Amino acid sequence: MNPNATITDEEFEAYLKQIRELAEGPFEEMQKEIEVTNKFPDEFYELARANDLYRFYLPAEYGGWNLNEQEILRVQEEFSRGPGGMRMHLHHAADMNWRILDDYGKPELKARYMDKFQDKSIYCNFAITEQTGGTGADLHTTAIKDEDGNYILNGEKWLISHTDCSDFTYVIAVTNPDDPKDTRLSAFFVPVDAEGFETVPMPHMIGCRGAGHAGLKFTNVKLDPMYLLGEEGQGMEVAIHSLSVSRVHIACSNLGMAQRMLEMSLARARDRVTFGKPIATRQAIKMKIANMQASIHALRCAIYDFARDFDHDPYGPDIDEKAAICKLLSIDTVKLVSDEMLEIFGGDGYFEDSPYGPTERLYRDCRAMWLEEGAPTVQRITIARECENHNGRLSYLYDETPSQRD
Ligand SMILES: Cc1cc2nc3c(=O)[nH]c(=O)nc-3n(C[C@H](O)[C@H](O)[C@H](O)COP(=O)(O)OP(=O)(O)OC[C@H]3O[C@@H](n4cnc5c(N)ncnc54)[C@H](O)[C@@H]3O)c2cc1C
Repeated sequence: MNPNATITDEEFEAYLKQIRELAEGPFEEMQKEIEVTNKFPDEFYELARANDLYRFYLPAEYGGWNLNEQEILRVQEEFSRGPGGMRMHLHHAADMNWRILDDYGKPELKARYMDKFQDKSIYCNFAITEQTGGTGADLHTTAIKDEDGNYILNGEKWLISHTDCSDFTYVIAVTNPDDPKDTRLSAFFVPVDAEGFETVPMPHMIGCRGAGHAGLKFTNVKLDPMYLLGEEGQGMEVAIHSLSVSRVHIACSNLGMAQRMLEMSLARARDRVTFGKPIATRQAIKMKIANMQASIHALRCAIYDFARDFDHDPYGPDIDEKAAICKLLSIDTVKLVSDEMLEIFGGDGYFEDSPYGPTERLYRDCRAMWLEEGAPTVQRITIARECENHNGRLSYLYDETPSQRD
């Protein structure tokens, strides 16, 4: 463990095992009904609380265990093996939910709320996407200062996750419409019970069932300046820095799912006999397994390389680019692995309730990752822009990495 962690190596290893068993056991069991209701029962939140899933990632001063990013991502890999909607909720809880307030909140807000994340007394979603504009800076929601110095928020947001269980929304809005640069944007911490704040229902998703999604509508929502995050004009920086880390949590979600799909495929290939032999002995299947493993290994290396950099300096020069690389690699990995899994399973893989694991649900769940925290094109744009800046050469820290092997 890192020297500041409040738990021992043994406790941490036991915790990883506990979370894997929870994700593939009680969470899986609960998900059968959630696939139909599309709503988490209270029991899910209670189990998450009882298993410290709102606590493990927090600094000790807020009730957490002082884990570093490498350790946090190892836990993320374990719960990502379970149902995708729960992964979505827990991945956000471990990251943007608390980190944005911690990084950019005014001292009075932090004093009031930072110790309330540890048991989900508060939960905060993040809203940048709009129906009326493009990804990133092309926003139309405004927060204009009135004569008393308050900000008046007007506009809409769309495709926003966790609207069913949030107390606040981190909103990116235009504070200076005449500024042609990204500095026209600012970030706010908006209470969902503020007057003029409404949610707009959205249809169900392909997968990740249970995680609530909605549109948001703001009509003259009045915000005290205390709710401004960082400085006025810093909104794009707040969004990009926060999304960078979150993109790696998405990549790690794909890693957890891909690892489980590989293990399920191996088990099935050993058992399934055609023409007198297990298909695992056929060269065609071995080639698939090798491609899956090579891709998963490359992804894991990229993710833990990012985490080492982040632990060294969260604002280091390669953070945004390496985060985009992790997200992009993870989409390619989960695409290849889920397709190969389906082929290895044959027709049975297309059906629910496989004894090897939830093949069809994993196939659906992982597809949310194409879009969460930005489409592949956006990742490529970030990578290409940074390549121009440093002539294509990234830097690396070579530390000892903990073994991922069971
Ligand atoms: C399950 C899920 C959860 C989400 N949760 C949240 C959330 O909590 N908060 C939030 O703010 N958003 C959320 N989103 C929104 C998500 O971030 C966006 O869907 C994603 O960034 C793509 O934006 P868009 O849907 O507006 O696509 P569009 O902007 O319509 O893009 C469509 C396609 O065109 C490409 N494209 C668009 N503009 C350009 C360009 N200028 N140059 C080249 N290609 C371009 C895109 O890359 C994409 O492939 C969520 C989405 C999903 C599916």
